[in-house]
Amino acid sequence: MLELDERVIDTDAPQYNASLVARSDETESLGYFTVKFDGSATPFLSGQYMTIGVFVVDPTTPTGTKIVQRPYSVASDPGIADSTGYELYVRLVQGGLFTPLLWRLPLGHRMRMIGPKGKFTLEPDDDRTHLFISSGTGNAPFVSMMKMLLREGRPRKAVFLNGVSYAGDLGYRALLEGWERDSAMGSGGYPVQYIPTVSRPSAPENAGWSGRSGRVEAIVAPVCAELGLTPDNTIAYICGNPDMILAAEETLLGLGFPEPQVKKELYWPKGKEPTGGGTSTDE
Ligand SMILES: Cc1cc2nc3c(=O)[nH]c(=O)nc-3n(C[C@H](O)[C@H](O)[C@H](O)COP(=O)(O)OP(=O)(O)OC[C@H]3O[C@@H](n4cnc5c(N)ncnc54)[C@H](O)[C@@H]3O)c2cc1C
Repeated sequence: MLELDERVIDTDAPQYNASLVARSDETESLGYFTVKFDGSATPFLSGQYMTIGVFVVDPTTPTGTKIVQRPYSVASDPGIADSTGYELYVRLVQGGLFTPLLWRLPLGHRMRMIGPKGKFTLEPDDDRTHLFISSGTGNAPFVSMMKMLLREGRPRKAVFLNGVSYAGDLGYRALLEGWERDSAMGSGGYPVQYIPTVSRPSAPENAGWSGRSGRVEAIVAPVCAELGLTPDNTIAYICGNPDMILAAEETLLGLGFPEPQVKKELYWPKGKEPTGGGTSTDE
């Protein structure tokens, strides 16, 4: 159940330079949000992030309001930032400072957006198989990378691992399954092997699930063995939950991957809990 958040959001701060122009909900606590600048977009590279925020009333500050903002990997193609905006795939963190505010915003609400930032970008001209490993919403930067490569007509072969608690939490599932199917049939798509996994296979929510089970970091070694992914033919990118990232990295280093061939984006520092003491379920 969603917690009540009674903070007053400033609807018209002069610092606002963007608006929430689209939103669609995957579940009660997972959503796709598109934020668009008032003016021209700032160009970004797939894998980079934007920081979005709103001002809330706070009588303890000299101005009476303060910004609450957080960074989000862009999931959309950089090529549509100007016309459509930046799509972000976000999990609501119960007890978190920003996401409960984001969930309350109506379409058209004004926002502050800055960026891009970040170095979690594709290595130029690397034709090896791209092993994309993510937990939860950590799949966002990989979706952007693939959309961009597709548009440029030079998709790089990819193996896409995404771990969640429940199958219903698999964001971009239809898109990825569609890409995989079309490519296998030789009718477009993206040359990707999509390998989702659920960490709670016996939960009622996962009834009927016939895919892999276990945490995503636990399927890295078996998938590499099954598909013949080696340090010679593969480069790895890992994004999301820090514990998952460190475990997956350890596995890859153990398989002989040199450290620079394992790129990482941590969504929060290891060991940190939500500010308000809430819990989260991104696996
Ligand atoms: C470079 C970067 C890119 C990011 N991109 C995304 C993204 O694309 N999508 C996204 O949902 N989040 C992303 N995050 C996380 C995001 O910035 C916020 O930390 C998150 O939305 C929680 O904000 P909050 O203010 O509600 O919670 P806070 O009060 O800041 O609490 C933070 C705590 O919430 C938990 N938490 C944070 N993010 C998640 C999450 N995704 N799933 C589960 N628990 C979480 C952790 O315990 C963390 O310590 C990214 C973070 C970084 C550093």
